[in-house]
Amino acid sequence: MDILDIYIPQIPIVKKKPNCFVGFANLPNQVHRKSIKKGFQFTLMVVGESGLGKSTLINTLFNTSVYHNKEPHDDLEENGIKLKLNVIDTPGFGDFVNNETSWKPILEDIEARFDSYLEQENKVNRKKIVDERVHACLYFIAPTGHSLKPIDIEFMKRLHHRVNLIPVIAKADLLTEEEIAGFKARIMEDISYNKIQIYRPPIYENDDPETLQENKEIVLRMPFAVVGCDKEIEMNNKKIRGRQYPWGIIDVDNEDHCDFIKLRQMLIRTHMEELREYTNEVLYENYRSNKLIASGNEFGDGGNPLARFEEEKKAHEAKMTKMEAEMKMVFQQKVQEKKNKLMQSDADLHARHKEMKEKLVNQRRELEETKRQLESGVRPGTPEKSRKGKGYFK
Ligand code: GDP
Repeated sequence: MDILDIYIPQIPIVKKKPNCFVGFANLPNQVHRKSIKKGFQFTLMVVGESGLGKSTLINTLFNTSVYHNKEPHDDLEENGIKLKLNVIDTPGFGDFVNNETSWKPILEDIEARFDSYLEQENKVNRKKIVDERVHACLYFIAPTGHSLKPIDIEFMKRLHHRVNLIPVIAKADLLTEEEIAGFKARIMEDISYNKIQIYRPPIYENDDPETLQENKEIVLRMPFAVVGCDKEIEMNNKKIRGRQYPWGIIDVDNEDHCDFIKLRQMLIRTHMEELREYTNEVLYENYRSNKLIASGNEFGDGGNPLARFEEEKKAHEAKMTKMEAEMKMVFQQKVQEKKNKLMQSDADLHARHKEMKEKLVNQRRELEETKRQLESGVRPGTPEKSRKGKGYFK
């Protein structure tokens, strides 16, 4: 019998309606109340060469000067809902002559945030977990009008498994409508050719037609061609956020002028929670399980904590035995060194003693010679020859 032939009875899910209002329909309201009390937190990373308008766009997105470089943490409040926003800048990206590894410190930063969360999760007390994981990364593409640059492809390829990537065409007002359309098409081709996964709003079965249509429109606009402007100008006696040119005005908040509104809609109004959820349930979860498997730490399915404990015990014992043997060896070495030193100084002492003794014997011999000469009336130091009247004076 083939394994696929096994008969699995289908248990039908019976949908029953209580006869009167029980109250669980109120659950979404309970969640709502709780969330409002807790407040929301979102961490956004911005990546791109300096001067591409990153800080301007962040300030335009949140309609306030959130981004003031030094301390990009801000508590925002709108209609009583609190949002703790953390903007992470990545200064220097792509600004060097050699940008081959520009992606590396950014990947390391994202993974370090996962590690910190994992460490806190594994602690006994998990009440005060500080979540600094990055929920979305706005990647700024320079408005060249060509296609993606190698640095863009490399960055996205290296990062897409770790963070929700949202590519945007920076300073889109510098390109014409036609140029933008062509540029977008080429970027999407590059993205699919390189199998880069960018963030796309998920489609749910029970989404209403309006939501489905909204999501479709968002996807069609990707990568968002954005224009940032945090100052207001006057147009038809109305103040608008826009950029003024000799040929006209670009209104940031006009969907016909750029994709800023679509980006804001996805990032803040409709998919912020989805981005958070995807980060936690897919990106972080993958990282976490891979890391635990790699370190042989898997406790879940298949992992045996007792066997692991035994293994760790054995490894610890082996480590202790090795340390003990090493300490013994070091001790013996030191004793031998001391012995050699003592033997050496003993020999030195002996040699010095011998030398001094010889010196003394010589001195004594000389003194005795002098004494003998004095006693025989010869002036000490007079050569033997002259004393006998021989030689030159003969
Ligand atoms: P960052 O270094 O990437 O943070 O760039 P900034 O936000 O400091 O912007 C650099 C310059 O570009 C500033 O002079 C901005 O006024 C200008 N800028 C910002 N956004 C845009 C835009 O969408 N279009 C144009 N044309 N200029 C922009």
